[in-house]
Amino acid sequence: MERKEHFSRKRAAILETLRGTACHPTADWVYGQLKPRFPDLSLGTVYRNLHYFCETGQAVSLGAVGGFERFDSRTQPHFHLVCRRCGSVVDVFGEMPGGEELEELSRRNGCKIEGASVHFYGLCPECVKQPKSD
Ligand code: ZN
Ligand code: MN
Repeated sequence: MERKEHFSRKRAAILETLRGTACHPTADWVYGQLKPRFPDLSLGTVYRNLHYFCETGQAVSLGAVGGFERFDSRTQPHFHLVCRRCGSVVDVFGEMPGGEELEELSRRNGCKIEGASVHFYGLCPECVKQPKSD
């Protein structure tokens, strides 16, 4: 019972950490944030829980960005921008293709599109403000 309680405390802390950041963290980042509070926490536990949140609709995986899987607690449809200078992943809000457009695309390509994930590349708002030229 005590073990189970401890387990769910970790799970709650992982979700809270994911919800408390806009950085689209990796499992490793979440692990680093929580390790001081839970010295027996393992990276595997963080991974399993992040995937559990994705399966249960509490989070989404952005897939690998720069080789590492990134997670997002914002589950409403939106786009992402990957900054080529600092590597950050930021939210981009705009019009997503609607149901009719996806149906038309599906018809035209003989498939069944169920969703979309779009990553833009460029400079994040912080890097845009920096005068450094490149
Ligand atoms: Zn940047
Ligand atoms: Mn996002």
